[in-house]
Amino acid sequence: MVKSSITGYPVIGENREWKRALEAFWANKISEEELLQTTKEIRLANLKKQQQAGVDHITVGDFTLYDRVLDTSAMFGIIPGRYNWQGGQVSTSTYFSMARGSDEAVASEMTKWFNTNYHYIVPEYEGQRFQLTENKPLVAYREAKQELGIEGKPVLLGPYTLLKLSKGYEEKDVPSLILQLLPLYQKVLQELQDEGVQWVQIDEPILCTSITSDEMKTVTEIYSQLTKELNSLNILLQTYFDSVEHYEETVALPVAGIGLDFVHGVEKNIEHLKKYSFPEEKVLAAGIIDGRNIWRSDLHAKLEVLESIQQQVKQDKLWIQPSCSLLHVPVTIKSEQKLDGVILHALAFADEKVKEIKTLQAILTQGKESVSKELKESEIALAAFNALPARKRPDVREATSGSILSDSKRNSPFAERKVAQQEKFQLPLLPTTTIGSFPQTPEVRATRNKWRKGEITDKQYNDFVRAEIKEWIDIQENLGLDVLVHGEFERTDMVEYFGEKLEGFVFTEKAWVQSYGSRCVKPPIIFGDVAFTTAMTVEESVYAKSLTNHEVKGMLTGPVTILNWSFVRDDLSREAVTNQIALALRKEIEALEAAGIHMIQVDEPALREGLPLKKSEWKHYLDWAVNAFRVSTASVKDTTQIHTHMCYCDFNHFIEAISALDADVISIETSRSHGDLVESFNNYHYDKGIGLGVYDIHSPRVPAVEEMTEIIDKGLEVLDPSQFWINPDCGLKTRKREETVAALKNMVTATEIARERLRMVVK
Ligand code: GLN
Ligand code: ZN
Repeated sequence: MVKSSITGYPVIGENREWKRALEAFWANKISEEELLQTTKEIRLANLKKQQQAGVDHITVGDFTLYDRVLDTSAMFGIIPGRYNWQGGQVSTSTYFSMARGSDEAVASEMTKWFNTNYHYIVPEYEGQRFQLTENKPLVAYREAKQELGIEGKPVLLGPYTLLKLSKGYEEKDVPSLILQLLPLYQKVLQELQDEGVQWVQIDEPILCTSITSDEMKTVTEIYSQLTKELNSLNILLQTYFDSVEHYEETVALPVAGIGLDFVHGVEKNIEHLKKYSFPEEKVLAAGIIDGRNIWRSDLHAKLEVLESIQQQVKQDKLWIQPSCSLLHVPVTIKSEQKLDGVILHALAFADEKVKEIKTLQAILTQGKESVSKELKESEIALAAFNALPARKRPDVREATSGSILSDSKRNSPFAERKVAQQEKFQLPLLPTTTIGSFPQTPEVRATRNKWRKGEITDKQYNDFVRAEIKEWIDIQENLGLDVLVHGEFERTDMVEYFGEKLEGFVFTEKAWVQSYGSRCVKPPIIFGDVAFTTAMTVEESVYAKSLTNHEVKGMLTGPVTILNWSFVRDDLSREAVTNQIALALRKEIEALEAAGIHMIQVDEPALREGLPLKKSEWKHYLDWAVNAFRVSTASVKDTTQIHTHMCYCDFNHFIEAISALDADVISIETSRSHGDLVESFNNYHYDKGIGLGVYDIHSPRVPAVEEMTEIIDKGLEVLDPSQFWINPDCGLKTRKREETVAALKNMVTATEIARERLRMVVK
């Protein structure tokens, strides 16, 4: 019989109870005991929902108090010395110090989980001896069994992925690290087997990246070692986010089941399945329902994929499951009261996806008739959704099919624009600027909330925003900055703001997903064709400009970032949707230019994270992503200066694509990774304007002048003074006013020192 399985479930709860508990604990409002009690209740409620839905293989052990990779580090004692851990079970306070830092020790680095917007804590190897501090999967298994009678499938992060995501070692250390880790994994598995566990899920998403044949050999060795002593325990080796790179070797691993992604890697995985078949004795856990997006599935299309799979896999060896953990989608559509009904019924969050899996299972085991009601409901919902005129607007379709998408070149090459722009703007050497936002004080947020609730009028709100703009224009002038910004006081979020003004977007009330730690995001949903209606940023920029003789940079979020930070319709390619956004932004940029704003910054901090897992697919992505940016910015005059901004982005891998954006100036976060960056400029001649962030804005600390002059000097070793801009790393919206003013004051002083030195050299 075909079985149903869930790969992982969101921790946060229907009303983000999890976030609230954590934050109350951090604020010393509840005790550790209360925290553990509340989170246990949330955990059990999550499991119970899956149990009641009738899922055969429920994952246990995926619940976390912060991050699952951090849980693994804690379990194996991969704990840096600075946390002063003395061995044994890791206390909650040590755990949270690693996640968030403490007075004694800075937090561990955090980075994006593959190509998702979930962030994990990077395991840091420092030569420490690993040790098993606690068999967490076993604890989770026992709890689910005792409390709810669930025969759970404990999950753990696989050794190879763990290793690949860790830092602090060199390639030559890999064999000894594996030797250290393996006995600990073996012990965990042995104990699970002794307990009578039937299935354990080991996640190895790294197998979906471009790993080499040699690396795959290592994986094979690891798994033969790992399974040597096991007999009754079945291992499900779980992959996701793409097709596996080495299909034959992967399915030959000595495990009882393989989990493959039939959403994000569907073509390749199906192709390989047909070409090389699938080992008869193994279970195939087919990730058939999209675990990364929020749309209701077209069940008939899913059945077609399942049919191809069934040609290779017998009924009793097939599991149906989501393509990855459901942690990447919100919990339930039940909480949405305000969405348009047609759109609402086209959505499926975690709970609804669980139901879809059960429906597909029922079709395969009992026939379509057994779930005719569910099937009908699904068909009707999707038909109504697809018939929405907003999903297929002739004006948008015509525009995006036309030649305008190849109109992605500025009138003149950069070298000529540079001269024209310098003549127009007359900027000093090493111009100073900021990235866009200024502090979003509690007052700014409270006023916006009042306005949203209708407690103050539009006029009152606008007046308030204007007063903030005026105040900060004055501050910037007093500081002596060269290029000013209006401060983004009218925006909560750089994507939401544009989504609310463009057509084709909807917003939910409670569709939160975990981004990092307790921080959740509520991405906009792009459900229809994206179109420009009215100017979005012109009024604020023009007002700011009217207050000063300096240039004021207009400030927009770029097409690729809007795409990557939204839930996107899946009936069009991501490229097509991005092009629609690009054309809408092009109109905004033209409106800004016409209104006299002649420096315009188009932020693309999320360009990096859209990169596919496989290197072979990078070029295609970068080609269309870069083109979309250029389409949005290409129509301006030579004398209009286009800026862009990115947060740290692996410059080394990327520098050609960044240069291809053809932005006149880029500002980039670098203060925490300066060495790398300077190196990439040694290897690549970057000719356009560039501002290397001279201080880290993520900390309230006010950096000293000397620290910044040092960073400027280092940058000037590899870049020409005539292309060099001075700015902080990123926007300043999370900082306090005093810190911001003090830090910028030092930045301006550091710039003056650097200018003075340059003048001496010229003399
Ligand atoms: N302009 C934005 C700001 O200053 C950029 C934010 C970002 O890079 N994430 O807030
Ligand atoms: Zn940034």
